[in-house]
Amino acid sequence: MNRDGNCISLWQDMPDYISKNLPAEADVVIVGGGITGLSTALKLQREGKKCVVLEAQNIGFGTTGGTTSHLNTLLDTPYYQIKKDFSAEAATQVYEVTHKALALIEKNILGYEIECGFDRKAAYLFAHDEKQEKELDKIIEATNEAGLHIKESSDIPVPLSFRKAAKAADQAQMHSTKYLYGIAGAFDRMGGCVVQNCRATQVTHENGETVVHTTKGKIKTAHVVYATHIPPGINILHTRCAPYRSYAIAVTLNDENYPDALVYDLDEPYHYYRTQEVDGVKYLIFGGEDHKTGHEENTEYRFAKLESYLRKHYDINEVAYKWSSQYYESVDGLPYIGHLPGNPSNVWVATGFGGNGMILGTVASCILSDLICKGDSPYAALFSPARFKPVAGFTNAVKETADVISTLISQKISVEKIQGMSELSHNEGKVGKYEGKNIGVYKNNDGRLFAVHPDCPHMGCSVEWNQSEKSWDCPCHGSRFSHTGEVLTAPAIKGLTCVELVEQESIKQKV
Ligand SMILES: Cc1cc2nc3c(=O)[nH]c(=O)nc-3n(C[C@H](O)[C@H](O)[C@H](O)COP(=O)(O)OP(=O)(O)OC[C@H]3O[C@@H](n4cnc5c(N)ncnc54)[C@H](O)[C@@H]3O)c2cc1C
Repeated sequence: MNRDGNCISLWQDMPDYISKNLPAEADVVIVGGGITGLSTALKLQREGKKCVVLEAQNIGFGTTGGTTSHLNTLLDTPYYQIKKDFSAEAATQVYEVTHKALALIEKNILGYEIECGFDRKAAYLFAHDEKQEKELDKIIEATNEAGLHIKESSDIPVPLSFRKAAKAADQAQMHSTKYLYGIAGAFDRMGGCVVQNCRATQVTHENGETVVHTTKGKIKTAHVVYATHIPPGINILHTRCAPYRSYAIAVTLNDENYPDALVYDLDEPYHYYRTQEVDGVKYLIFGGEDHKTGHEENTEYRFAKLESYLRKHYDINEVAYKWSSQYYESVDGLPYIGHLPGNPSNVWVATGFGGNGMILGTVASCILSDLICKGDSPYAALFSPARFKPVAGFTNAVKETADVISTLISQKISVEKIQGMSELSHNEGKVGKYEGKNIGVYKNNDGRLFAVHPDCPHMGCSVEWNQSEKSWDCPCHGSRFSHTGEVLTAPAIKGLTCVELVEQESIKQKV
């Protein structure tokens, strides 16, 4: 199974999923074959809708293939924050709907007999210092108020020192792509249709007809759902979601010290731990080192930091897998699920899941299914993509947008990167200047050069080279491209423009 990066994740050892041909019409076209798209398709198909899932590459190609698959009702956005920025009722609703989503995953696994290593686990949070201890106190109080029982714990299942810890029961974990394939199979058996290698390029609304244009032809539909992690094209949600990258390693140990729980510290960014057995082998999955996409020149260093941190506490036998992937943080910490602003009323979206998209993507499937089938959902207002929270939202929006603007300006005048071009080694890429123009160049292992215009076709920001995943990443809205310029990750619909071979030859002489 392919993924949108060069590193291999723990979840990629899957057979090819068999695709179908593009039908002429559907009740609902769902764009994107990750957890959000396939969960939504399954839910709607079960409600009697004829659904078609369009996946640009293969199912699991996006972040669902690069996740770490903790299933939480204890979310990255703490309940005290939700209570403060929204209301106490909103915090209760968030707990209620994530609790239902986790139950739905479990029900699907039991009902469709999906073998995906699903296990209920406790989750531990622990504080290293006084500041974190105060934070933990606030978390404990508000989490209990929201409805999730969490209590102080005198121990933690990882060999680290701590000042204070808390334990919440009834969280869970699973193998992400085994679950994804399982629900795709169930959807297929119900008459659903998954079309892979089929990119949605445009949606038109003419004479009362909605048509999705794809690389495999057109399909007429009553509804369109963008389950592409971030909607393609240009939309208000691109100014309200910021792309981040997180790193994970899966290691085997020389002893049996694997944590039998989900564990999180309160560092900024935080570290996350859990264990998963795959094909009879136990792996400790450890993640963290998050940063804004395109804001780290040395992505390999992030892996090195993760590994050295873990080695201080564990007797590691082998680092079997290391990978990174992208997520989208919303300005107010809650996802956007519902009608896609600026579009006709039959266009839907789910995005801004932060680091909880396995559960929030499942939440999205329930809300979108209710909105499409019943015209309403008890959670529609809370997660509405049209909301704008004046307090938390405004402050964050300014910060994120300011970053976008400064990126636009500074990336276009960087002198340092130009000088760096002459130092390009094998298997490395860089943006620099060539004959007065910005150019992105990657030199592969054989010394062959690949050059692209580094202006992102989405909104014109300059892309950055991601050395670990061998991709061009846009720091503004998270579009990502292969070394030859093909789109890996939305919102871009078109790839980077390649620089002609003539220029490539002259670059070769200089580099
Ligand atoms: C390192 C890391 C660890 C994480 N760990 C956790 C965790 O432990 N628990 C948790 O809950 N969440 C976690 N998350 C977040 C979670 O994995 C994601 O939010 C979730 O997988 C997103 O699923 P999705 O279906 O919305 O998007 P994706 O899985 O990204 O799927 C989108 C799909 O849309 C396709 N697509 C895009 N554009 C088009 C187009 N135009 N036409 C057709 N197809 C298109 C893509 O190819 C892709 O396959 C983690 C994220 C990261 C980065």
